[in-house]
Amino acid sequence: MADVVSSEVRSRMMSGIKGKNTKPELVLRKGLHAVGFRFRIHPNLPGKPDLVFPKWKAALFVHGCFWHSHDCHLFKWPKSRNAFWRSKISGNAARDKANIEKLLKAGWRVGVVWECALKGRTKLDAIRLIKTCSVWIKSNRKRFELTGAEDALRRSLRGSSR
Ligand SMILES: [Zn+2]
Repeated sequence: MADVVSSEVRSRMMSGIKGKNTKPELVLRKGLHAVGFRFRIHPNLPGKPDLVFPKWKAALFVHGCFWHSHDCHLFKWPKSRNAFWRSKISGNAARDKANIEKLLKAGWRVGVVWECALKGRTKLDAIRLIKTCSVWIKSNRKRFELTGAEDALRRSLRGSSR
C-alpha cells in the first residue's frame, strides 16, 4: 500500500482534529448524553478535554489518530514536508503527555477515545462504545484508553506497544 496521503485526505485529517463537534465525536457525545451523563464541552483544563464529567472527576479526550500519531491504520506520515510533520506531530505527543500528567496531578481521571474507535473499518459498535466509556466514567480507574477494534487485536497479536 502506498504511503502517499492525497491532499484531499490530508485536508480531511486537518479539519477533523481541530474542528470541534466533528461527526465521530458526536456519536460519543450523543450516546453518553442519552444514557444520562452530563458533561461540559470546553472547560478551562489542560489540553481542553473534549468531554468533562465534573460529577465523576473524569476528563475524556477524543484524539484524532493523525494529529496524535496513533499506531493504527488512520495514521500515515505525509510524504511531503517530512521534517515539518515530524516536529509538529512529536510536539503534539509531548503536549498530550504533559496535559494528561497535569490533569492526573489535579485529581482528574483521564480517558482517551481514539478516532479509530469511532469511525472507519475499526469502528466499535455504538452500544459497546457507550457502555465501555460509561463503565470507566463511573469507575475509580485513573486512566482509560479505547482504540478501534481491529487495531487493538492486531497490537495484542503482535505483542508490542509503542
Ligand atoms: Zn487510531
